[in-house]
Parts: sequence; structure tokens; C-alpha cells
Amino acid sequence: MIQSFNPPVRTLMGPGPSDIAPRVLAAMSRPTIGHLDPAFIQMMDEIKQMLQYAFQTKNELTMPVSAPGSAGMETCFVNLVEPGDKVIVCQNGVFGGRMKENVERCGGVAVMVEDDWGTAVSVDKVQAALEQNPDAKVLAFVHAETSTGAISDAKALCALAREHDCLTIVDAVTSLGGSELRVDEWGIDAIYSGTQKCLSCPPGISPVSFSERAVEAVKARKTSVPSWFLDTNLVMGYWGAGAKRAYHHTAPVNALYALHEGLVMLQDEGLENAWARHDKHHQALRAGLEAMGLKFLVAEGERLPQLNSVFIPEGVDDAALRTTLLNDYSLEIGAGLGAFAGKVWRIGLMGAACTQRNVMFCLMALENTLL
Ligand code: PLP
Repeated sequence: MIQSFNPPVRTLMGPGPSDIAPRVLAAMSRPTIGHLDPAFIQMMDEIKQMLQYAFQTKNELTMPVSAPGSAGMETCFVNLVEPGDKVIVCQNGVFGGRMKENVERCGGVAVMVEDDWGTAVSVDKVQAALEQNPDAKVLAFVHAETSTGAISDAKALCALAREHDCLTIVDAVTSLGGSELRVDEWGIDAIYSGTQKCLSCPPGISPVSFSERAVEAVKARKTSVPSWFLDTNLVMGYWGAGAKRAYHHTAPVNALYALHEGLVMLQDEGLENAWARHDKHHQALRAGLEAMGLKFLVAEGERLPQLNSVFIPEGVDDAALRTTLLNDYSLEIGAGLGAFAGKVWRIGLMGAACTQRNVMFCLMALENTLL
């Protein structure tokens, strides 16, 4: 007979999911109520308010999509890109490539701005692309490239897009709650994130936010949104302000309790304090890794505090080391992705996993295993 599943207790220091805060796990186990229950609807309003805080926006269209970060990505593209639309897509890692696929699946034309993996998106190249493509409708880029650990200058990129009357789609899956991000001040038009990184929640929900300009662009479409589930016009009947909360789909009730709790934690800590905590523990981890002779993939100044990519030292068996960390220390660190598979490790310091204890634990486990 198959028994109940009892997962091992791990310390998750990879690219996500990251450790879930115990109070978030506790919130998830509270009794399920109906997704149209008045008590639930009040909680939805609070989630929306706290997401607006996390994104630093007043955008009315701010809501959690009931599916993982990839669905948040698709929500932005399927609503804003119509057949024939030109989209400038920046690629400096795995996730920019997925943006290109999204554009093409929507019938759009992707104009690629390529940068080396492990570097930030070049603001100069984006400026040139905007000048050469005055008919571009959207500029799309990844704020925090989880595949490499590089952070791009979202503020400068969005300012350029505005100058060229271009909408922006920004991937903030790994940056939300971990790095400075100001949706309204920076003029971001459509943004999506994930719950499993710096929000300390389980995977499976994708917060998104659309500016007024983006909402107008969706309204001005000549064709209907090709996805029923992700059409913001329809889902806002459930998540919109003053909406009668009509049934759209059955919300993942307990996963939303988790998101609510994760956002309460963020609010209690303070957004800027959370950004500072990620930076502080990253600096400690960096010092320890460098003392062991490990070299960072990303240059200082373009490094994401919550995702530290270091080259695997010559002669070290990547898979064997990660297996030892898992078996002997119950510690997960991430393998390299795409072009960096087998070449780097990705050490995450995200959300509730971004602690002094975890920095010390990871350094101790790596040192014992490596040296
Ligand atoms: N974008 C980035 C930058 C990511 O890191 C990820 C996941 O790691 C995604 C998109 C996709 O999110 P999900 O795996 O939750 O669908």
C-alpha cells in the first residue's frame, strides 16, 4: 500500500522554490472556505492592497493569477500583443527566450536585443533598438534573470520605452520583495512575478499588475485575447474593484491564504527593509564564497543579491557535490541552466531563506564538501 507522502525537511537555497515561512505554511492549513464567501472576498481585497504595496503601484488591475510565474508571463503577452505587433525583447538568459516564444505564439514579431548571459541588459542597445523600430508597441525584459543572477536597470529601460511611446512588460519573478522595484515611479506598464521566490510562499501563484496605459491598450485590441483563462477583461470580473465578484474560476483558496500571509510578513518587515536584508546577507555570502576561492559569474554592480551564480571549480563533479549537499546536509543549491549547465552553481537567498543562519550553513556545508 502506498503511504502518505512526508517530504524530507530541506534548506532550499536554489533558484526557487525557496523556504516557505512556517507561518505561511500554517496559514495554508486553515479551513477552506468558498471562493465567493464574504470573508474570502475581504481577504482578496487585502491581498490586492498588499500586492499594490509590494509592487509600489496604485494600479487597479493588480491581482494574483491562479497559476505559476509562467502564466503571469503569458497574461502580459496574450493581453498586450496582437498579431503583427512588434515587440522588442531583451535576452540575457533563459527567460528572455521564453518572452520571444510568447510574442511569436501571439502572432507578434520579436525584435531581439541580445546580451551575453551573465550581464545586465544593455541600455544603449535598447535605445538603439527603439530608435530603429519606431513602430514597436512593447519593450519586454527580465528585471532579475534567475538563470544567471544578473539584475537589469528597469528604471532606465522603462524611461527609454516611455520616451519612445512604447509599453513595457517586465519579468519580476525573482525581484519582487528582494530588490528595489517601483512600478509607478519607474513607469512600468505590465509586470508579473511568482510567489515561490522572495515572497516566501509556495509556488503556483503569479501576481501581475497593469498600468492604465496597458489597460487602455487591452481595451483597444482589434482581436479578442486568445486565452480565455488569462483574459484580464474576464478575470477582473472576479478580482476587480467594486466587481460583484462573479465566478470566473475556482480560486486556489488555501494558496491565497499563503500569499496573504507572505504579504503580511512583507508589510510587517517593510519593503525597503526586505530589500536591505537581501543585500546584507548576499554580501556575507559573497565574502565567504570568495574566501573559498569561488568566482562570481556576474560582475559586481550587476549582481542579484538573491541569486548568486559562482563557477564550479575545475575538477569538481557538479552533480556529485550537489548530491552530497542534499544527502549529508539536506541543503539544495541550484545547478546551472541552459548555457551554464555544469558550469555554475546558483545559490539562492530568497525571502524566508535569506537569513544569516542560512549563509553560515551553506558556507559550512560547501567548505566541508569542497575543501
Ligand atoms: N521568469 C523568471 C525570471 C523565473 O525565474 C521563472 C521561474 O523560475 C519564471 C519566469 C517562471 O516561473 P514559474 O516557474 O513559476 O512558472
